Amino acid sequence: MPERRPYVAANWKMHKTVEEAEAFLGEFLPRAPGPEGPEVVICPSFLALRAAVAHCAGTAVRVAAQNMHGEAEGAFTGEVSAPMLLEAGVEAVVLGHSERRQLFGESDEALAGKVPAALAAGLEPILCVGETEEARDTGQTDAVLERQLQADLAEVESGGLGRVVVAYEPIWAIGTGRTATPEQAQEAIGFIRDLLRARGGGDATRIVYGGSVKPGNAAELMAQADIDGALVGGASLDPEDFAAIVDAA
Ligand code: PEP
Repeated sequence: MPERRPYVAANWKMHKTVEEAEAFLGEFLPRAPGPEGPEVVICPSFLALRAAVAHCAGTAVRVAAQNMHGEAEGAFTGEVSAPMLLEAGVEAVVLGHSERRQLFGESDEALAGKVPAALAAGLEPILCVGETEEARDTGQTDAVLERQLQADLAEVESGGLGRVVVAYEPIWAIGTGRTATPEQAQEAIGFIRDLLRARGGGDATRIVYGGSVKPGNAAELMAQADIDGALVGGASLDPEDFAAIVDAA
């Protein structure tokens, strides 16, 4: 079975101006691991991407966007494409975050185009999936995850699955302070890994947990057999807290 390098990403959402992003990196980068440690990815707003790339140059920390369009160019007002991100030095992109699905109508159909477009461009997709509270309460968690993954990865060859990072983010745990238990997270992520294995991948794919990860719960979550790291929202805004989470990976 391939060794999977731990992966910890900071999703800043619509937080931090360029000045604030630079201040964060000034504090965080001296504490960040080198190439032998966990892989660390920072996801700032589009406008702070170039500054973050410049600050992270010469370190092992990489920069990701929080979204992109599936087409390389065209009449899509307000959108940003993979070639534009690459030109800015970005190496990865969050796709299908639940806030984009719920607030901005991101569909599995769009994601079925975006994930292979990111891979073809040489960007690492960080694909987010996860169930609502209602789906969990009615026993639909596995069905929701299977539907999202089969749709969003429909155009990805088995050989490409190892280049995708999957983030299991139960919607009821995002920004709520209500974290999935390590057992709940492991169960869902184990299910995701089995689904990917059935598609000819899975062992090489990093699958991380997201949803109210904090310094106090990170180690226990990431110690689970199939949990390869974390996608961190709120707690990633503070360099001390984020560094503590990275240390736990
Ligand atoms: C997220 O936005 O991906 C997330 C997991 O947020 P939080 O850590 O704040 O729950």
